[in-house]
Amino acid sequence: MSRKIAVITGGAGFIGSHLCDRMLDEGLKVICVDNLITGSMNNIDHLLKNKNFRYVQHNVSKPLEIKEKVDYVLHFASLASPVDYLKYPIQTLKVGSLGTHNSLGLAKANNARFLLASTSEVYGDPLVHPQPESYWGHVNPVGVRGCYDESKRFAEAITMAYHRVHKIDTRIIRIFNTYGERMRINDGRVVPNFIYQAMHNLPMTVYGKGKQTRSFCYVSDLVEGIWRCLCLPRDKKGRVHEPFNLGNPGEFTIRELADIVAELTNTKGNITYESLPIDDPKQRQPDISKARKYLRWQPKVSLLQGLKKTIAWFEV
Ligand code: NAD
Ligand code: UDP
Repeated sequence: MSRKIAVITGGAGFIGSHLCDRMLDEGLKVICVDNLITGSMNNIDHLLKNKNFRYVQHNVSKPLEIKEKVDYVLHFASLASPVDYLKYPIQTLKVGSLGTHNSLGLAKANNARFLLASTSEVYGDPLVHPQPESYWGHVNPVGVRGCYDESKRFAEAITMAYHRVHKIDTRIIRIFNTYGERMRINDGRVVPNFIYQAMHNLPMTVYGKGKQTRSFCYVSDLVEGIWRCLCLPRDKKGRVHEPFNLGNPGEFTIRELADIVAELTNTKGNITYESLPIDDPKQRQPDISKARKYLRWQPKVSLLQGLKKTIAWFEV
């Protein structure tokens, strides 16, 4: 039997490249589409000789043509770090809107299953804690983070419209802060920032007082959740097609994270306090009851275990 084909947009990025690995391990052919705006060939170098893997350099905000019959489209292309999307707000809005439209168009043309990588940022600075999927969020649409939050909210809306109108078999996952090997050391997110700073004996830059919280998920746990979500059969009642939170409910203040990184890197843990970015969410923790029930999924890797592996990878 011929292998099923998955198109992964953003496949040369941090999460996308781990997903390429997993889909190949599961026996699929993978077509990775990326424009390398934040991704890197280093993340997929090890796959280039695999006959079941193909890399296509393309900006998915422009129409996307794939000649093969495609079975799955996983749309992961987006600017993802606040530093990146604040630098490229228009590209961020385009890839969330036009890029999602083009990716859905590819799924529609092939009657393929479609999975959207959405984000906990759709909840904005949440007034409900922890955040269940039923919470509609508290987003500043015209603030500096609006380019990302609203692009993903639009992406979710158009995905549901394609499901309802064109009957596309769609999935939406809302990813909460995920970290691990292949993050760019300078991508500006808190985990690589603190690791880099600790490794170079620089003070860790805590924004605000460091009392804001995040819940950090190790990448292998996330990929397992994505795979399970993708494998769920269609569901007439619609629960499978509505969003799933995927993240680790373990919640830490940023100050606590700095202490843990200092301990694991055997460094002094000096800290410098910098101003809190505008609209920086004060708290974030996923309610993963839905994923537990439907995907029989929950994270297995603790923050300590995941950080140890990530630090070891950055050290090489
Ligand atoms: P990343 O920056 O490493 O990966 C994003 C990839 O998308 C990069 O390879 C980039 O080059 C590519 N890309 C961006 N715009 C593109 C375009 N127009 N055309 C083609 N490729 C394009 O970030 P990541 O952390 O791996 O994020 C992957 C996805 O997961 C994103 O959609 C992001 O919004 C989502 N997400 C990630 C997290 C997280 O904590 N890592 C949290 C929530 C959501
Ligand atoms: N943060 C920080 N120091 C840094 C980078 C980030 O204190 O060097 C804080 C940031 O203000 C936020 C949290 O860490 O409250 C997570 O930031 P990140 O950019 O990783 O992702 P976000 O969850 O904000 O999208």
